[in-house]
Amino acid sequence: MRGEIFDLEEERLRSEIRRHGARRVLLQLPEGLKPQGLRLASIIEDAGATAIISGDPCYGACDIAISEAKELNADLIIHYGHSKMLSDVDVPVVYFEAYARIPIGEAVRRSLGLLKRWSRIGLATTIQHIKSLNEARRILSSEGKTVYVGGASHMLHPGQVLGCDYANAKAISPDVEAFLFIGGGRFHPLGLALATMKPVVAADPFTGRAYRLDDDARRLLGRRWAEIEEAGRAETIGVIVGLKPGQRRLGEALRVRDELARMGKSAHILAMREITPESLENFTCFGAFVNTACPRVSLDADSAFPRPVLTLREAYVMLGKLRWEDLLRNGII
Ligand code: SF4
Repeated sequence: MRGEIFDLEEERLRSEIRRHGARRVLLQLPEGLKPQGLRLASIIEDAGATAIISGDPCYGACDIAISEAKELNADLIIHYGHSKMLSDVDVPVVYFEAYARIPIGEAVRRSLGLLKRWSRIGLATTIQHIKSLNEARRILSSEGKTVYVGGASHMLHPGQVLGCDYANAKAISPDVEAFLFIGGGRFHPLGLALATMKPVVAADPFTGRAYRLDDDARRLLGRRWAEIEEAGRAETIGVIVGLKPGQRRLGEALRVRDELARMGKSAHILAMREITPESLENFTCFGAFVNTACPRVSLDADSAFPRPVLTLREAYVMLGKLRWEDLLRNGII
């Protein structure tokens, strides 16, 4: 993400600092906007507050740096790149969505060839391109497509998806033959394919390209089943509970630990902030892991982990409480 491509709303940043009367501000940026840290921190300082830039990785609105803000005595968190997900946080948070200023027309027109066999198309995107959804709808409609945008869920905007939450898309999935995703990178459109199990075409406005995700999704599903089988053979299992505020599911972790124990496994809770191959590598005492935090860590980095790291749903498949065929029908996210 670069500053000129994304709307950083600098005027709003100044006025939010003043409106909150903030004295010390913790600034959180996703990886792509970290180069803008100095510029945004200067604006915060000009508006009368001390700016502290969070240097930790930040992949989603699940990861609001609440405890860090408290430790630093910050009275405001400025969070860029995501829309609000958490309620009930005890440090005020102002979100800057970083809307993309890039036109989508070329990529959407390129997608038409890949979508030609289907007439009922669902649209989905991330918060960055949400303002362009109507233009995508117009282009598809002018080609005779019937366009659906899911808006019945808890998301802030119709058509919006998160890496772990495709409720808007799932709501319209029975009505559509395929999805068109607007946005850059494979992370979200791959998630869309895994959540809906429908064909997905991605239109990437950053490259002007359009491409299908079906092969990636198929390969990943094959690997996931292999991981479930391998985890089933493990005698010891680490149940990971996430420490990021929107990933903390201790109750779920304890429940699945108890189920694993009933199955005869030796299962223990492991609390972590960042779940990486390096951080799990030395836990050779565990033959497999169940990840109750961000499910995409398990799904997207599976081949990088030294041993299987199942999502919660996959763990229940291993335990015989869910059927893999049902997940394949209804989506694994
Ligand atoms: S839990 Fe994972 S996929 Fe969901 S918002 Fe957080 S980082 Fe993104």
